[in-house]
Amino acid sequence: MEELLRRAGELLTRAGACAWGCADGAWLLPRMREEARAKALEQTPGFRRLLCAAFPYARGTERDGRISRYARGEDYHRAILRRLSPAAEALEALCPGAVFTPWADSSPFPEVYAAARCGMGKLGENGLLLTEAAGSYVFLGFLATNAPLPATGGEITPCRGCGLCEEACPGGALRGGTVDPEICLSALTQKRGALTPEQERLLRRGGMLWGCDRCQLCCPENHGLTAAPLPEFDRPEPAITEADLALGDRAFRRRFAGRAFVWRGVQPLRRNAALLQKTKAESTSAYHTPHGGKEERTNEHGE
Ligand code: SF4
Ligand code: SF4
Repeated sequence: MEELLRRAGELLTRAGACAWGCADGAWLLPRMREEARAKALEQTPGFRRLLCAAFPYARGTERDGRISRYARGEDYHRAILRRLSPAAEALEALCPGAVFTPWADSSPFPEVYAAARCGMGKLGENGLLLTEAAGSYVFLGFLATNAPLPATGGEITPCRGCGLCEEACPGGALRGGTVDPEICLSALTQKRGALTPEQERLLRRGGMLWGCDRCQLCCPENHGLTAAPLPEFDRPEPAITEADLALGDRAFRRRFAGRAFVWRGVQPLRRNAALLQKTKAESTSAYHTPHGGKEERTNEHGE
């Protein structure tokens, strides 16, 4: 099994992973809810190990853009499965009788904990895995298997605990390593339907159309990174115009087909844009010069 683990590492690295490891199912399963455990065992009968892999995306430059960095490229669910599937097939061919089930994001496993447990990086108080080469700018992918591979890693290593992410979080959504989705901007910008007045206020303050990178940008563990982003995750932020936001849902999805930020359709983006526009209009009208002219005011992001 040592040799199979070595081959798994080679295959995951070839698939584009900048870090990988193997978590022990005996450690994971007791930490999962009954429903999640059942799903894991149904999808991978005899589940014993979870191969974990981190795929780097573009880190961009400080303070640029209104679409979070993770969402600028190709939809990662699709891209990560495309990268993992050949590795799964190769491993099944190498180990007859073994099953390797690929997962991207929507797995039943406690993904960040599993990746931290198998030695792929530190566990951040921002709730993210902090890899050495790409920091938290990674997508996680998994292969669940019934093969008794040797587990890697051991105890979970926490981040330095500087508290900067909690300080940077606009609504105080981060507390003790957990995120409150009711006030996390990343979650709010993706939420369909109406927001509460407090959520609207937060969204306007955040200034983002989609997502929020603040607890990543401020993190000292995200400095001095070396991993190059994978090409499908290294795309510039698209210009989303008013005309785009006026499109019907299907047309909007076609217009930005394959991009990660379209999975909820046009409605949340249209609402977010309207809220940001309101802020802009209010701040502009509030700043008339004594000479009767108008002075454009910049918000906290220099926009
Ligand atoms: S993504 Fe933004 S709002 Fe959400 S926890 Fe991080 S800093 Fe807070
Ligand atoms: S900002 Fe500090 S406390 Fe937060 S995840 Fe990074 S190292 Fe940990």
